[in-house]
Amino acid sequence: MSPPAPSKVPPPAPLDRPLRERPGVGTERAAQFARLGVHTIGDLLLHRPHRYEDRRRFAPIAELRLGEPATVRGQIVALGIKRYRGGNKSVFEFILDDGTARLHCRWWNLPFMQNYFAQGDDVLVYGTPNSIKPRTIDHAETEVIVNGEENSVHLNRIVPIYPLTEGLPQRWLRSLIWRTLAEFEGKIPESCWLLDAKEFLPRARAIRLLHFPDEQSDIEAARQRLALDEFIELQIAIQTRRKNLQKHAQARPCAGDNRLIKTFLAALGFKLTDAQTKVLREIRHDLGAPTPMRRLLQGDVGSGKTVVAAASALMALESGCNVALMAPTEILAQQHALTFRKWFEPLGIKVELRTGSHKEMRDERRETRNEQRLVDPSSTLCIGTHALIEAGFDLENLGLVVIDEQHKFGVVQREQLVRKGRYPHLLVMTATPIPRTLGLTLYGDLDISVIDQLPAGRVPIKTFLRAADKLPKVWAFIRQKLEQGQQAYVVYPRVDDSGIGDLKAVNREFEKLQRELAPHRIALVHGRVKADERERVMKDFRAGAVKVLLATSVIEVGVDVPNATVMLIENAERFGLAQLHQLRGRIGRGAQESYCILVADIKTPAARERLEVLVDTTDGFEIAEADLRLRGVGELLGRDQSGQPAFRFGDFAVDRWLIERARALAGELLASASTCKKRLAPN
Ligand code: ADP
Ligand code: MG
Repeated sequence: MSPPAPSKVPPPAPLDRPLRERPGVGTERAAQFARLGVHTIGDLLLHRPHRYEDRRRFAPIAELRLGEPATVRGQIVALGIKRYRGGNKSVFEFILDDGTARLHCRWWNLPFMQNYFAQGDDVLVYGTPNSIKPRTIDHAETEVIVNGEENSVHLNRIVPIYPLTEGLPQRWLRSLIWRTLAEFEGKIPESCWLLDAKEFLPRARAIRLLHFPDEQSDIEAARQRLALDEFIELQIAIQTRRKNLQKHAQARPCAGDNRLIKTFLAALGFKLTDAQTKVLREIRHDLGAPTPMRRLLQGDVGSGKTVVAAASALMALESGCNVALMAPTEILAQQHALTFRKWFEPLGIKVELRTGSHKEMRDERRETRNEQRLVDPSSTLCIGTHALIEAGFDLENLGLVVIDEQHKFGVVQREQLVRKGRYPHLLVMTATPIPRTLGLTLYGDLDISVIDQLPAGRVPIKTFLRAADKLPKVWAFIRQKLEQGQQAYVVYPRVDDSGIGDLKAVNREFEKLQRELAPHRIALVHGRVKADERERVMKDFRAGAVKVLLATSVIEVGVDVPNATVMLIENAERFGLAQLHQLRGRIGRGAQESYCILVADIKTPAARERLEVLVDTTDGFEIAEADLRLRGVGELLGRDQSGQPAFRFGDFAVDRWLIERARALAGELLASASTCKKRLAPN
């Protein structure tokens, strides 16, 4: 055996070195850190405290107040453990005295706690008093003060408190970070953009202040600098991808020549809104450009994105290319297939549906009614679900890909989809209004068009919030609407992939609903109903044979039945606001007054306030901002979080200006890349 070839890989930069090379970090500690996602020295330096304690002064025990968290310092004057229930249960307790009063600290069923304390120990206690007579804190966070040189780290300053994992002591970790900082602070690389953004702290300084701030205000200043680095890194990735596309990708000319669109618009039965026309102009421009289109089309529910997709598809079809349209659910794919067949088959265009339940693509090869084909006979619009098309999509001569209801999909997935074809144009449509902060990150590589206008004649939806005990009145109201010939949705929290218990609950709900609303016909759809059954139900609902659809959030996106004017959403507290807004968008599609009734189990004023956002406004942007603020980015974008950037310091809800700044700085950095070597610290 020949000796291994000498490694050509340069040694890792200091901050990339594994943590276990640090003195005091053995295999066991390294494993504990790994559980926290901390592997290298750089990771350790970015391990973010979850709170801080001002240990320059302590609250006197005598001044503790019920329910208000505080840190106190005192001596243990008594301690002991009590066991009961035959020794199965225990409570360990010590009494702390700081000269003003005494505090009882108790731990239930953690008998090993007694190993950590001794009479006379000088102890810091952080917690929330759960009783004042006597003063008591249960399950406090504690730190025994050890006299010695280290006290400058743990006392008389604003002290970081870190997220821990089992076995990792707070005090030990703090000392490790202190020592590591002392050694590595000088080796933290700086980025050259700092010259253009002097109002930010240098990175090394920010990392020091993140752990050991001099003042409270240093904490936020440090966070902002570190968040900016995260945003810049993301922006560089986004902008680089975009640049590469512009450099390497050749687009097929797809702007068309108007001959199909004209016929299509004339047969449509309504006039496009100004907003739709404006957006189509932008799209036509892109489709004629040498670089493939990358465009996000935003428009609130009901703003008429489907027609825009259709007209865009026609441009590509006129140009002799094929088009793919992807929808997130089978229901929506089927609905689109119906709509587009109605619109396109008279024009001689083949519309294929590919979904899980239509495996051998249902290509009926229907001959067109007017026999006179206006396009190349192979011109095809292929409609399917994202999943199916992701799996193996092979449409020849693909000119345009339209992705409907994109908000469920992250950057990575979008990239995968598009790589399938040879740089087709891409139009991504979403009804979730994306707050600008998110738009710049999730969709930073896309141009954005907005349909900011609803078709004329829409009557605003009236929304009500009701407690569950008002349900009988709600049923009466729905019965009345049904008798007037209208239809309704009843939405029940999802059963799609959760337990069998949920399925039972929705079936019970179905029986109850049948009793309440008899003799009107009711049908049930959810994720576990077989596709052909679901298709039949939707068909009957569209045709008006089924009056009420009991559904889970599978109907959330895209379903379009204008005669449905009432929506009852049960357990509304379990949904995010943006999702409720989407659901509500299923009604209010015709000329009749529509009603959305949110039935919720409201336990706190905050929960009520949250849902009242929906009662107060139908503006999707306002709702999305509120959702982002109240529940975070995960809720806004749905459960499927794949492909989303994760930030340690950045926060979409508050960092809009930082994101804008990062975008500009990243642009300058890329423009001057040859003179200014990008040196973003590892993280
Ligand atoms: P969304 O943007 O939520 O996908 P749709 O495309 O489903 O909305 O459109 C909602 C309804 O409005 C459909 O029934 C559609 O035919 C209708 N519509 C679209 N554009 C117009 C318009 N300019 N005038 C009147 N109705 C329109
Ligand atoms: Mg739609």
